[in-house]
Amino acid sequence: MVALPDKASAFIDWYLAVVEEAGLTDKRYGVKGMNIWTPYGFLARRNLDTVIVREIEATDSQPVEFPTLIPANEFAKEKEHIKGFDAEVFWVTKGGASELDIPLVLRPTSETAMYPVFSVWVRSHRDLPLNVYQIVNVFRYETKTTRPFFRVREIHFFEEHTCQVDEATATERVRSNLRAFRQMAEAFVLPYLAVRRPDWDKFPGAFYSVALDAPVGGARTLQLGSVHHYRENFSGPYGIRYEAPDGSQRLVHQTTFGLSERLLGAVVAVHGDAKGVVFPTALAPYEVVIIPIVGATAGDAPRAAATELRDRLRRSGRRVYLDEGEDRPGAKYYRWELRGAPLRLEVGRREADSRTATAVDRLGRKSTVAFDALEREVGDRLAEFDRALAERAQEAFRGAFAPAGSLDALANSERVRYFSWCGREECGHRVETAIAGALLGTPEEGLPFETGPLGPCIACGAVDGVRWALAGRPL
Ligand SMILES: [Zn+2]
Repeated sequence: MVALPDKASAFIDWYLAVVEEAGLTDKRYGVKGMNIWTPYGFLARRNLDTVIVREIEATDSQPVEFPTLIPANEFAKEKEHIKGFDAEVFWVTKGGASELDIPLVLRPTSETAMYPVFSVWVRSHRDLPLNVYQIVNVFRYETKTTRPFFRVREIHFFEEHTCQVDEATATERVRSNLRAFRQMAEAFVLPYLAVRRPDWDKFPGAFYSVALDAPVGGARTLQLGSVHHYRENFSGPYGIRYEAPDGSQRLVHQTTFGLSERLLGAVVAVHGDAKGVVFPTALAPYEVVIIPIVGATAGDAPRAAATELRDRLRRSGRRVYLDEGEDRPGAKYYRWELRGAPLRLEVGRREADSRTATAVDRLGRKSTVAFDALEREVGDRLAEFDRALAERAQEAFRGAFAPAGSLDALANSERVRYFSWCGREECGHRVETAIAGALLGTPEEGLPFETGPLGPCIACGAVDGVRWALAGRPL
């Protein structure tokens, strides 16, 4: 058994310990920032992808997969874009012993891979909208300290790219993505805020960027993903045009929506506690873990009953693990709490005889489940667990924010702060200095809690054009 560092006072140490001890990742690979997806981590990641695919396909997006390598000439075509990623890309310059005529870039994201092809795919207004997504690995030469799931050099990445007839339709696609993310976040039981990034912090080449930020303790925030409106900034350089019904040639307006394995890191960061990881049901590699309690006098009955429970739950579509290892039951309870299983069922001699199992959820709530109503009762316990987890997360979310009336109030802040801002970049930078972090931006869909009225700008005191803004310390 290991003692985890204290989450509140040593968050990063706690996080690094918990992802390793829970067996989600193995950092012992010879390239910095490239971790191994262990079986347990891989299963969680697959569940993450399942939810993402379900929700994005419900908005009429179709899967594609583009190649990993991008020719340097296509990569260079969008000047603003290359300015954003040039310092972060891995290059492939040789094939065997020969230098390549055109060097290749390992995709850091796929605009420059897809858009030359979109210019061929899109011909007429009848080809629009074009909504496609892929879930692939992308590569970024990260120079800051890398952290499992939060900041890595090989990123498991979801990216949707769309082409729309005009700016208004592209704006509607942004809204549709935000609605889809609300559904995903509900499955992950993750409270978050949609925040429009200030111009100096938007995605390279974007008209505007909306980030999905989750508070993760103190003033820390984690960007879970982002949605971008590109207007014609990419379709111009890549020549993505269509013939409108009136016969004129027009450039498409584009959007993108990006998510990554950070969502898994966020689930660990937000729900995890002193005992370890806490998985919401939708993400848990195993929703139910069954532990037979076999003592010297128990005989075969507990093992037979546990096997029956496993087989029936599997047939009903549950992800189940029967822990038949040699460890004592106490050690198994400890391990599956550390690994975050939502529900465990304990079956000893007494349970086998009475055809009931003792159920304990990851929040420590104990109940009894009758074999006769197994499938329904397990479903009920998991739903109750998710509801309780959501309540706990909502309470922490509400407590993560505090108002600020002056720049002085931002220093050493232990909360994410909201305040009035005039919108000027100069004032934004003064806020960033004061909090030693970032001006996250302005809430895209309002603040999800009661506030007082807007006051003068926190930095310059101007009253004209003020809006709510948020600041914190992004991880
Ligand atoms: Zn100001």
